[in-house]
Amino acid sequence: MTPIQALQKYFGYSEFRHQQEAIIQHVLNGQDVLTLMPTGGGKSLCYQLPAVLMDGLTIVISPLIALMKDQVDSLNVNGIPAAFLNSSQSPNEQQYITDQLKSNKIKLLYLAPERLFGSGSNLINFLKSLPVCLIAIDEAHCISHWGHDFRPEYLMLAGLKTEFPKIPVIALTATADELTRKDILEKLNLHKPAEFVSSFNRANITYRVIPKKNSFNQLLAFLNERKEDSGIIYCLSRKSTEELAADLKEEGFSAEAYHAGMDNAQKAKNQEAFLRDDVKIIVATIAFGMGINKSNVRYVVHVDLPKNIEGYYQETGRAGRDGLPSDALLLYSYGDAIKLQRFAKVDGNEDQSAIMLKKLDDMVKYSQLQTCRRQYLMHYFDEAFPDNCGSCDICLSEYEKFDATLIAQKALSAVARLNERFGSTYVIDLLRGSRSEKLREEHKQLKTYGIGADISKADWQRYLRELVSLGYLAVTEDGYHVLKLTDKSNAVLKGQQKVELIASQTIEEREQEVIPYEAGLLNELKTIRRDIAGNENVPAYIILSDAALMEMATYLPQTLDELRLISGFGDVKLARYGREFLIPVKNYCGKHNLSSRIKQKSTKPERKAKKGNSNSSKSSNTASDSFNLFRSGKTIAEIAAARNLATSTIEGHLSYYIFTGAIDIFEMVNEEKKLLIQNAVESYGGEKLGPLKEVLGEDHSYGEIKAVLAWMRRTGTI
Ligand code: ADP
Ligand code: ZN
Repeated sequence: MTPIQALQKYFGYSEFRHQQEAIIQHVLNGQDVLTLMPTGGGKSLCYQLPAVLMDGLTIVISPLIALMKDQVDSLNVNGIPAAFLNSSQSPNEQQYITDQLKSNKIKLLYLAPERLFGSGSNLINFLKSLPVCLIAIDEAHCISHWGHDFRPEYLMLAGLKTEFPKIPVIALTATADELTRKDILEKLNLHKPAEFVSSFNRANITYRVIPKKNSFNQLLAFLNERKEDSGIIYCLSRKSTEELAADLKEEGFSAEAYHAGMDNAQKAKNQEAFLRDDVKIIVATIAFGMGINKSNVRYVVHVDLPKNIEGYYQETGRAGRDGLPSDALLLYSYGDAIKLQRFAKVDGNEDQSAIMLKKLDDMVKYSQLQTCRRQYLMHYFDEAFPDNCGSCDICLSEYEKFDATLIAQKALSAVARLNERFGSTYVIDLLRGSRSEKLREEHKQLKTYGIGADISKADWQRYLRELVSLGYLAVTEDGYHVLKLTDKSNAVLKGQQKVELIASQTIEEREQEVIPYEAGLLNELKTIRRDIAGNENVPAYIILSDAALMEMATYLPQTLDELRLISGFGDVKLARYGREFLIPVKNYCGKHNLSSRIKQKSTKPERKAKKGNSNSSKSSNTASDSFNLFRSGKTIAEIAAARNLATSTIEGHLSYYIFTGAIDIFEMVNEEKKLLIQNAVESYGGEKLGPLKEVLGEDHSYGEIKAVLAWMRRTGTI
């Protein structure tokens, strides 16, 4: 059987993702491999598929018991015999598994490192008597002090290569910088390892930041649009997780809290309920998440500012592991940043404090960005990312700007009159002519006193922030946040420099009208899945992912052969559950006079299906408007003219849909051009459009280059 055949047969997928195929080939050739892939990228398959194809036993080292159970359940449901050995099992259970291993009935065995090498353990000798063919080390960064999650027990794994010198080892992780990577290779003693580093971009996650005002109302507005979805809400303090969960319950949401201070039984209960979709929302501190493999988390909200980008990215990364569009929302307030600054200071350790403060500062910068958020994140992780992503809040909105020169002049002169000695609150009080006693009497005599009374406090805050981010003002970093003029200020004050600010912050709803799915049917399918999962005593997503249900409700398969084309239906799942899912689809179609749409399903459908009857038409200027016009047959030039936007903006919009798969690359670029552009990108890289355009010449427009780049990103070829 070839890898691709096994992929379909055992996992029900028709294509490999990222570099899975190359990685699997290396493993099958008996080579050591280090794999870096973002969370949700599909690391497990890189050792599970070889395990199925190879003769013998694959040992998987994994740090978390919760994760082991999840993985083993998933494998068993797919008809792949797998088991784990850990301290939670009774001697009888352990004996049973040992017997199964002896008679070669198990393909994958999951173990914690201390189990393998712990003192008094004779497991290693037992395993050496078995035909071990592959060793996989999950969360391999845990072996390095440089990583963010060092676990001393991982150091024992250094002995693996001595005990099993001939067996290939695949180490996998989602986070490891250069230093950690080297450390992993050394500590594990890997032999001529091949390294595979995938892009860290989580293309299906839309990043959004909104200024925190009334966080509970903002949260409700967000959640009301997502009533059926699972999500995680992160708070900074334990107390606020409990309060927020209670408040949400009062509003009728299914929510529970989770934090390290709760007793273990309660924690386990809430986590389990979340995994099984009995609870939709978990309100948690960052203690929650590590090892949560739930694939259908549709959104992650940060109600408080995270301490650094690393944490933020890892937490948001828990959304959308199934590849479906998912949201990351951050409620940002500068007050939070100031609060965190106090925590960032490590007493008696200046160097450490400086690092923490710098990391916090990068997080604040991210929150205040006026440019593509994804690009910032990718650059933060040292990954080149060309152009705009087209799928973060910044890229999705066309901010309306207005001439704010006068406003800027008022603000700057207030700062000047105060001799650059006060922070924004004081400056705003002065501008608004506050009667507060905090404002000194002499300042109430200044000419600038009250000249900005027509603008609300909140707007002033936003304008001042923008003036800072545009470089017309600066803030001291000594902890007092004093506003200072910059060398750009003078030109504004003298009227030589026009200033434009954002008029109103519109958060656009992303919308892709592709093939509508049948919402009623989807609900029925979810109920069936829940029943099956209940019977089998596993979380629902282990039976089938949300993506698979969504596809069924979209493409309406009528026969088992058609059902096989739905992502996630391998042979065993098809045989076990196929009929159970087919019957309601057929009934529904009969009732509503619908027929199969399976022919509309292209090979890579998993990210395509999208709510058809979404009613968020309130937004204007979104990428989806361009998309709809394009679908109605208009050319890019016509769309640009109709919408009064630059053609490059429209091209950016449409490239996003190429990226999601809603537009086929050949709708924008012909085969020949595509190949030429692709070659150029492969030779010169895709970071900068300018040089590519130069190489390609007049025959290729920027739009065409962008389109091919989007397609290459989609297919993981850059
Ligand atoms: P990671 O361990 O990298 O966080 P997983 O191995 O849990 O990610 O994979 C995330 C999800 O993607 C799982 O639901 C998995 O079944 C799915 N998946 C993996 N490879 C493919 C593929 N080639 N096609 C479709 N889905 C895939
Ligand atoms: Zn963007």
